[in-house]
Amino acid sequence: MNNVLAADIGGTNLRLAIIDPQGHILDESRMQAELSLHSAESHIQAEAHIITTLSDGIAAFLAQSSYSANSIGMGFPGFFHGETGVLAASPNLPLLHNFPLAELLSNSIEKPVAVQNDALCAAIGEHRFGAGKGQSSLLHITLGTGVGGGLILNHKPYGGEHGMAMEFGHLCVEQSIQNNNGRLCGCGNHDCLETYASASAVVQRYAEKTGKASNARDIFQLACDGDAIATSILTDAGDYLGKAIAESIKLMDISTVTISGGLSGAWPIIHPSLMETLDANLIPPLKGKVHVLRSTLADNAGLLGAAAIASNS
Ligand SMILES: [Zn+2]
Repeated sequence: MNNVLAADIGGTNLRLAIIDPQGHILDESRMQAELSLHSAESHIQAEAHIITTLSDGIAAFLAQSSYSANSIGMGFPGFFHGETGVLAASPNLPLLHNFPLAELLSNSIEKPVAVQNDALCAAIGEHRFGAGKGQSSLLHITLGTGVGGGLILNHKPYGGEHGMAMEFGHLCVEQSIQNNNGRLCGCGNHDCLETYASASAVVQRYAEKTGKASNARDIFQLACDGDAIATSILTDAGDYLGKAIAESIKLMDISTVTISGGLSGAWPIIHPSLMETLDANLIPPLKGKVHVLRSTLADNAGLLGAAAIASNS
């Protein structure tokens, strides 16, 4: 078993690490990298820009690191065809369709590359190394700019037929689909979970109610200090999460859910309201039997999942 290079790709940043087979991060780098090329007029330009950006970042990191790695695993924000590393589509990179990301990147840096959806990578990391370790099945939820979901079913990652399973943030949690007066989501629908329980939704709702700009961390602190508006917005986030988890459990009957991401920092407020709503909405035989755990991997779940999918031969 060798060390691998893990990459966690965001819209504007690139996080790289050398990770050993036990899941220890030996070396790490974070860099700014804009993946979307706003001037791109064709998918060919957009694809070339992504390959160049990722290859250059990886080469620069390996050149300065005292560790080496023979293979690469990557979490990427988009939908993938199974384990092929072919990107079916990415909401933030609309020019790309059926883009063989893993193959082209592998050709460029001359090392084997495996790529998977970023939220599914976080689920794999949490299952292999974190709060979900030892469970046969796991639903992992990421609460960041958006709300993501990844599913491990009978010890195996489940991405769905088109790589689009577990779009947990886009479960409708409030109004009927006929009513377009709810909160508009980036996906075009209204009242998706993401419009209440993401860090950006909490920030937006606080600004709407108070006229003040803040960030999720400060809103949590305000709630701890007794601010009623901050408390109600975070309690709402927990309620809606509990409702969405309850609906998911009705379909999947799994007993362990883990949560990571920036908004999980508000755990002391979110978790109690989440559990109350979850138990109120579960079917009776399952009440009290679903465990919702905070990630034990800080913000490393995605990175460790990326390491887990890297080829290790
Ligand atoms: Zn949505």
